[in-house]
Parts: sequence; C-alpha cells; structure tokens
Amino acid sequence: MTSDDSTSTGPGDSSAASEEAELRQQPGELVFTPRRRRERPPQHLADLDRAGRREKATALGFPAYRADQVSKHYFERLSPDPESWTDVPAAQRTELCAALTPRLLHEVNRISCDNGTTVKYLWRLFDGSLVESVLMRYPKRTTMCISSQAGCGMNCPFCATGQSGLTRNLSTAEIVDQVVAGAVELAAGEIPGGPGRVGNIVFMGMGEPLANYAATLGAVRRIVSPAPEGLGISARGVTISTVGLAPRMRQLADEGLPVTLALSLHAPDDDLRNELVPVNNRWPVAEVLDAAWGYADRTHRRVSIEYALIREINDQPWRADLLASLLAGRLVHVNLIPLNPTPGSKWTASDPAVEDEFLRRLRAGGIAATIRDTRGREIDGACGQLAAAQ
Ligand code: SAH
Repeated sequence: MTSDDSTSTGPGDSSAASEEAELRQQPGELVFTPRRRRERPPQHLADLDRAGRREKATALGFPAYRADQVSKHYFERLSPDPESWTDVPAAQRTELCAALTPRLLHEVNRISCDNGTTVKYLWRLFDGSLVESVLMRYPKRTTMCISSQAGCGMNCPFCATGQSGLTRNLSTAEIVDQVVAGAVELAAGEIPGGPGRVGNIVFMGMGEPLANYAATLGAVRRIVSPAPEGLGISARGVTISTVGLAPRMRQLADEGLPVTLALSLHAPDDDLRNELVPVNNRWPVAEVLDAAWGYADRTHRRVSIEYALIREINDQPWRADLLASLLAGRLVHVNLIPLNPTPGSKWTASDPAVEDEFLRRLRAGGIAATIRDTRGREIDGACGQLAAAQ
C-alpha cells in the first residue's frame, strides 16, 4: 500500500499527553512519566454516585435529600433550569444548581441535516477544549454518538479526530452531559418527530474510550443506572468502540456490564493494520481478537467488528476471505463503513461494487455483516469526521 510519514507513527510516539503514559510503558518495564497537573473540570453530580452526591449536599450545608431532588431534575425530569425545581426552596436553587449541576458544555455551534433529525453539536468545555456529539433520530430509536476525549491520541491516519492529537480526557460528567443535552432537547420536543427519548448511546465520537477508562466506565454506570441515580438507559443500548487496547478490553469484560463492544479492526493482517491503526504495533490482530472473544464469552454479547472500506487499501477480496476465516464461528457482527472523507486525506471510499463483493464474501464465509449507513456525512458528523473545527 501507499504510505507517508504520518502513517508510520507508532503508538509509542503518538502523543506527549500525560494520560497516554501507561501506553508508552513496555511490558515488564517501569516508566515514570510525570503527569502534568491540569485544572480539573468542575465537579458535577454526574461524577458521583448517590452517596457521594448526598455527602456533597451535606458538606454544603443542605439536607442530603436535596441531592436526590436535583438528581431527579437532572436525570429524570431532564429539566436543568433551576427555576423549574419547585420542590426546592427558591432561595436555594441557584446555589444548588451551581454546586451540583455546574454548566459543563457551552454550545458553540450546531449543524443539522436529515430535516433536523441528525444534529451535530460543538461544545466548548471549561478550559476551552472543543468536543462534538451527534444526535441521530431514526423512526424507531434515537442514538447519541458521544465523545470520551477532546481529540484522540491513537493516530489512525484515516480519521479526522486522530490528526490533531489528544487534548485531554473528559470527566465522567462531561461525557454524561452530552447524552443529557440531547435527551433534554428530545424530551422537550425540539427534535422533529415529537417528544422522544434517547435509547442508544455509542462511544464513537471523538477519542478512545478505553484510554480514558475510569471516566468512561463512570459514564456508562450513570447512563445505565435507574433514574434518579442515572439515566436508566438499557446497557444493551450502549456501545463502546475501541481501537483495540487489549488489556482494557479484558478489564471491561470483568465489569459485569452487558454493553456492546465494537472493535475497530479495519484490516485482518498485521502488516496493514499496523499502519491503519498504529496501536496494533502494540496489540496485534490475534491478541485483540482474542480479547474480543473473551468479551463475548463473558458477556454473551455479540461483538461488533468495525471495518472502514478504503479504496484499494483494505478492500481486496483476499482480505474479505481472511477476515471471514478469522471470525468464523464467533459471536460477531461486521459493520462495513464506507470511508468518510476527511480533510487532506488521499484515501477514499471503495467502489460500491467492491463493497458489495466484500460483503458477499463475508456472508459466504458465514459471517453476519451489514454496510453501515453514513448519517451525518454532509455535516462532517459521520464516523471519523469529528474534528471540532468551527
Ligand atoms: N476510538 C474509537 C472510537 C471512535 S471512532 C475507535 O476507533 O473505535 C468510531 C468509528 O469510526 C471507529 O470504528 C473508527 O475506526 C471509524 N472511523 C474513523 N475514521 C473514519 C472514516 N474516515 N470513515 C469511516 N469510519 C471511520
């Protein structure tokens, strides 16, 4: 395949960001990379479990049950405006709001398409970092695609987010609040189709969720906990997508959360995957697939394999056959994603006929596979297009 310097960068030198320190550590070797101190995002009730929220309310001089009331307004009534918190004395609302639900996401811009049923939001965080999320309303369900990091340190050359590097990890509440922001608009009937609910969450916005493991898991717990502790969305509706951080995939399997795991494979052979997904140099195809099967065994959940079809790069019939043979007999579904264009990239989507042949070969090999729709493509809101440029 063709190659340029930017595509041969390995994960070891992908980012200087401190959160990546553990990825630079070689097995058996202790590397002490000093963590740069950063100011943390304001603490929010979505960062805490119920006990933590009640403690915080008490520490502020309020009765503990105020925390439950505010949680109900935030997660259940989806009513962030303190003026509407009529069960809280008017004199306490502003202070409780500032302490428990400080504003984390400041809307910079939004773009919509599909008659307003696909909306891409651009948010500014407290420190100026920019992140995006995308709401996609379909006739029978609404999916929020959310970001787990500002930027991304994984360096995949075909992905727009990967081009700018990692800015920082998001906090649990910064992740959860993206879902709540969409849920508030849906509940208020502001998205065409009448009042609705968010049923599906995909961690397929900016960032590598398993590189921000603790905050991502915290967010998943808030998303699936019944209201008013959390949003009460079924874990089966939550998908965590990863480039394949094998140790973290194994750890996720032990959490006892039946979320769907999606593995961004993009190539069935190490030669090519090393280039398309640089972290493969650390955890190669055989190891990430093994971790994926471990996940399926533990959770009984079908693993999704994401495969962006890139013209004359990874779309050859022999690669389809090799992929089918690697996946045969496993609890798996392949999502073929026509490559979405990213600025400055020399790569483009495969021919539709080549796409069809790739799909046909997978199915002939007994593998469940579909071609993913490319919602949001015209607003740069589709997979790999989120770059937070205004
Ligand atoms: N870091 C995680 C989650 C974010 S990306 C991951 O990589 O899985 C969500 C999906 O979009 C991934 O499967 C990713 O590989 C894919 N993707 C990235 N760039 C793309 C592009 N230009 N066209 C199509 N899919 C892309």
